[in-house]
Amino acid sequence: MFSAALITDRNGSLDWTVVGCARFGSAEHVWREPATDGAVLRWEDGSPVELIVEAYCCRCPAGTDGFLVGTGFDDDLAAMRLCAGCALSVPSTEMLRWVDLDQAAAELGVPVRLASGAMTDQVRGDRLMRTVLDDLEATLVGSNLRERVADPQWREQAVRAAAGNPRVVVGIADAVADLGDGEVLDLYPALAELGRQLPRAAARWLESSGHVAAARLGLPCLGAGA
Ligand SMILES: [Zn+2]
Repeated sequence: MFSAALITDRNGSLDWTVVGCARFGSAEHVWREPATDGAVLRWEDGSPVELIVEAYCCRCPAGTDGFLVGTGFDDDLAAMRLCAGCALSVPSTEMLRWVDLDQAAAELGVPVRLASGAMTDQVRGDRLMRTVLDDLEATLVGSNLRERVADPQWREQAVRAAAGNPRVVVGIADAVADLGDGEVLDLYPALAELGRQLPRAAARWLESSGHVAAARLGLPCLGAGA
């Protein structure tokens, strides 16, 4: 069985943690899961037997050579997966330690192997595609807002898009902030209706991060600068 795993450097040494409780019949299956980032753990008879690591450096197209481990480097718990070249280019002001793949296996307590380049390429392609599609959707919603926000059916679509894609919320915030004062007056009932319909998480984000848009969408503004 296989599961998604995260390689961490929480206490200055490499460790791994299982992401989620889903188990899959193949590593390919796990790589396709959106939550999978960096590593897949293989299990046999209930014990972890192998960590399969993404084939490429997280900063450049070169292959993974190891992990940069250290405190104060990144708040993120994930260990930095790098090629030897990128590892050298990180300023040595932080307390950092380079762990190559052989050493990594010793620290992690399970053999480590790289995923095939083809598999990683496919996963990267899928992720890139998702990002491009999400951006496209956000741009479309944002650029149609002025003309379409008065249409209840359009608002329903925009709300549905915002629920599945946080970039749409940013698109809406930008488009609403770009409206002229006269347009805001004309469109206010529709804007407030859109604000009421937005998913709670989106509304909360606008209230704290998009003050102008939040006010124009009839949402309360939190914090200074509203
Ligand atoms: Zn690199």
